[in-house]
Amino acid sequence: MGWFTRQVELTLVDDATGEAFATTKMAPDALPESFEVATTMHICDAEWSVVHAAPSKRSEYKKSGAVTLRLRRIETMSPEAIGFSQLDITDRFDDIERLGPTDWIATEPINLRIPNPEAAGLPSPSADPEVVYGIASKMSELREMFPASTCADGVYCPVCHVANIDIKRLREPCPKCGRALLKFGWT
Ligand SMILES: [Zn+2]
Repeated sequence: MGWFTRQVELTLVDDATGEAFATTKMAPDALPESFEVATTMHICDAEWSVVHAAPSKRSEYKKSGAVTLRLRRIETMSPEAIGFSQLDITDRFDDIERLGPTDWIATEPINLRIPNPEAAGLPSPSADPEVVYGIASKMSELREMFPASTCADGVYCPVCHVANIDIKRLREPCPKCGRALLKFGWT
C-alpha cells in the first residue's frame, strides 16, 4: 500500500437533462464502497439521489481513476430532513448582484429558524462558538469539494454572522474574530 492515494475524477450528470453539470476530484475513500446501495448526495443546497454510477464499486473506480454519476434531484423535503451544508443564510437573494467584493453583510443562523435544529445536524442555538465553528468547518469542507462555479459561492463566518461574495477569501481570517472564513452559498 502506497501512502499516496490517487484522487478519483468525478463527473456529475443531471439525469433530467443528460448534461454533465460538474466535475470534481475526490479521494476514493470519501466515496461509498459501492453505489449499488441507494446513495444520496448533497450538492449546492439540493439533495440528489444517485440513479446510476459507472463504475459502481470503489475497487473499480480506484483502478480507473474516474467515475460518472447520473443524479436525480430530490424535490421536496422537510427542513429537518435536509442535510445543511452551511449554518447561516441570507434572505436577500439579489445580494450577490448588489454587493461588491469588499462588502460584508449580516447573515442569520438557520438554527434560530427551525424547530429541533440538532436533528438536522445543526448546532443548538446555545452552543459554544467553538462547537458552532467546528460543525460549520466540516460542512464547508464538503462544499469545498465542488468548484465555486457550480454554485454561487462566497465566504462567511458562522460565529460573527457576516458574509462576503469573494470566494478568493476562503480560509482567510474573518475580519471580526480571525477564524478562517468558510464557504457560503447564496442560492
Ligand atoms: Zn468571525
